[in-house]
Amino acid sequence: MINAKTKICIIIGDPVDHSLSPAIHNAGYKALGIDDKFVFVASCVKVKEVKDVVRAMRIMNFRGLTCTMPHKIEVMKYLNEIDKTAQRIGAVNTVVNDNGVLKGYNTDWLGIIHTLEKHIHLSGKQIAIIGAGGVAHAMAYGVTSKGARVTIFNRTIKKAKKLAKHIKAKLRDLSNLSILKEFDVILNATSLGMGDKISLTSVPKEYILKKHIVFDAVYEPYETRLLCEAKEQDATIIHGTEMLLYQGMEQFELYTGRKAPEEAMRKTLTKNININQDEEIYGDYFV
Ligand code: NAP
Repeated sequence: MINAKTKICIIIGDPVDHSLSPAIHNAGYKALGIDDKFVFVASCVKVKEVKDVVRAMRIMNFRGLTCTMPHKIEVMKYLNEIDKTAQRIGAVNTVVNDNGVLKGYNTDWLGIIHTLEKHIHLSGKQIAIIGAGGVAHAMAYGVTSKGARVTIFNRTIKKAKKLAKHIKAKLRDLSNLSILKEFDVILNATSLGMGDKISLTSVPKEYILKKHIVFDAVYEPYETRLLCEAKEQDATIIHGTEMLLYQGMEQFELYTGRKAPEEAMRKTLTKNININQDEEIYGDYFV
């Protein structure tokens, strides 16, 4: 289906070979019968090369640029415009090229809000965000924009302070997690639970109660230690794949101008994630 008029969308990151974005977006193009008009690819790029990628995007007229770790801040320097919300969050994960004018957006916060609002009306709720990095910024912006009250917990208190000041939230260090009993929702925005930290969790099991909604931004493994233990405590759990899907759907709509086909994109996501994971992956740590 690809021809000389096919528009290119690309995800850059370092690393990027684990990314599910190409599979999800291409499945969406196919479902809508626009896979002759758009194709989505990936490229591993170093931070110092982001400037050249943006230049190439203008010259070669790529339609969309998706940025994942660690490029969401660096890319902002080279764009013509940045959407107000992305400016407030301080990160861009989506760049749209309209005839050489490059505009940056952030769809992570929409992915989070869309996911949470399926479970809870956020206004007035007490939300604990564990972490103070890029995802924590998007989460904090999203939930405060819906009227929730946020407390940031982070290992590095300086970073928590900066984020808390930015969104007018409270802050605590990680030794204060016993106060989680006062919260409605717990959001993990740390990288604990993935990669070489797969056996770790940001919240000890005893602090998780049945009344809690527990969301983990980590989506590989599908069910992290945090979510497994929250499930054991009878809490409501939300997988990181939901955020991944909804932020990707928002991006799809910005690139194509078409409503994203949720079912086809979800099906591809599910096919590419091991949702029937073996609990053995946690070794002795998880019982
Ligand atoms: P980031 O900016 O690098 O922030 C990482 C956060 O994790 C920081 O708050 C850091 O604390 C904390 N952290 C790391 N190691 C820790 C440890 N050993 N103990 C306590 N805290 C630790 O990363 P990010 O971009 O926000 O991404 C966070 C997670 O979300 C990643 O796992 C990523 O894969 C995932 N993610 C998911 C989606 C999705 O769609 N579901 C999208 C993007 C990212 P310090 O400040 O103390 O360093």
